[in-house]
Amino acid sequence: MHTRSLRFRLAFWYFCTVAAICACAAAGYWVSIRSGLNHALDQGLRYRLIGLREFLDEIEPGGHDEIAARLDEISLLGELYLVYDAGGSLIAQSRGLARHDVAEPPPADLGFDIRYASGGPPDFRLRLAWQQVTIGSHTLILGVADPQRKFEGVLGAFTTVLALSIPAVLVVATGCGVWLGRRALAPVARIADEARAIGERNLSARLAVPESRDELQQLSETLNDMLERIEQSFTRTRQFTADASHELRAPMTLIHTAAQHALRRERSRDDLIDGMEKILRESTRTTLLIDDLLQLARGDAGKDAVALVPMDAAPLLRDAAEQAAAMAASKGILVGLDVEAEALPVTADDAQLRRLLLILTDNALKYTPAGGRVTIGGRRVADGVTITVADTGAGIAPDDLPHVFERFWRADKVRSRDAGGTGLGLTIAAQIAERHGARVEVESEPGRGSVFTVRMPRAD
Ligand code: ADP
Repeated sequence: MHTRSLRFRLAFWYFCTVAAICACAAAGYWVSIRSGLNHALDQGLRYRLIGLREFLDEIEPGGHDEIAARLDEISLLGELYLVYDAGGSLIAQSRGLARHDVAEPPPADLGFDIRYASGGPPDFRLRLAWQQVTIGSHTLILGVADPQRKFEGVLGAFTTVLALSIPAVLVVATGCGVWLGRRALAPVARIADEARAIGERNLSARLAVPESRDELQQLSETLNDMLERIEQSFTRTRQFTADASHELRAPMTLIHTAAQHALRRERSRDDLIDGMEKILRESTRTTLLIDDLLQLARGDAGKDAVALVPMDAAPLLRDAAEQAAAMAASKGILVGLDVEAEALPVTADDAQLRRLLLILTDNALKYTPAGGRVTIGGRRVADGVTITVADTGAGIAPDDLPHVFERFWRADKVRSRDAGGTGLGLTIAAQIAERHGARVEVESEPGRGSVFTVRMPRAD
């Protein structure tokens, strides 16, 4: 439906453009032909005016009556003239003009140069040439005229040609417009058909790309790129759903088994407490996992609004270090704080930045054995503030480094799970950083430790 309307619009605009061009060209030709014809008339009038003046010069008339009488002779030969005296009174009028009752007054400020003008009644339009002359002692205004209808036939024939040819040109142009529109839009219709055939089930299908090196090739390639991105995001979502279900299934199975085991036969109080503790542990883990999933989903949907305000990150680092030290004491890990500047100005959401720090320090404590050290650092750099969480723990293998921010990715599933990890911590950390215009980087050496660096942009 839209294709048809676009085609119609193209044809319509094509029609309008051609019609406007035709109208301008016709008007231009018409005006120039008419002024050409007037020019031809003016040339004739000029010679006749000169002739009239010479005739009067030759006869050397004594008075106005003689002028009228002598001119009447040439009036019989068909000459059209008007003669006024300097005061503007009509002295002589040719018979032809008298017959049509034409006594056209001369132009107001006429000098000794020849002046051309159009005049006469509507049914007898005239072209006139005027000049003021001195004949002997008389100052006269001479006017000679020529009927414009002389050339009206030529103009009329030209107008007829225009009136017939313009509609014909418009019909042909509209036909061409419709044909061109259909031809130009045919590939678009094909692309639309192909795109319509791509759905959830065949998301890996792509549009045929014409080697035309034009907008259509560009359009097909752009749509293919978009399909690629949609497919990737679809695959990621599918994978995420599968992983999330799998992750949720494990604790649920454990809870189910523990409950079944407790109920199968008569149990001692200690056995029951043991079973209940298992159930409690797993349900706490499940709640944590669901919390993480919720936070990620809200982040993905852009719903978890961050209230970015200018603030000092140093107190947050101090709090994080204190909190980590409290957790680390029982594990025999030393926690240090290494904040160089007095203040670390950032634009951040307090709660979210604390969450990010908690994820990184929590990981550092989880993957660092007793006797190790975790250092929380902060410093001002040229383009903002860097926050680091360094540990002397297990480290991450170079091959694993690119995966640590992936959802549910864990180098050691069992170990992470036992330590209470969900495999979503770093994904959430990266998401929080992204919403602050920051990024999280990691450097690590297996066996020696890891350094996670958050690069916050300048507070301004
Ligand atoms: P988890 O809940 O498993 O800790 P994360 O997304 O926080 O999930 O981390 C993903 C994986 O990255 C972890 O399972 C672990 O293998 C690795 N990792 C994260 N932080 C560290 C660290 N400080 N030292 C060593 N390995 C780490």
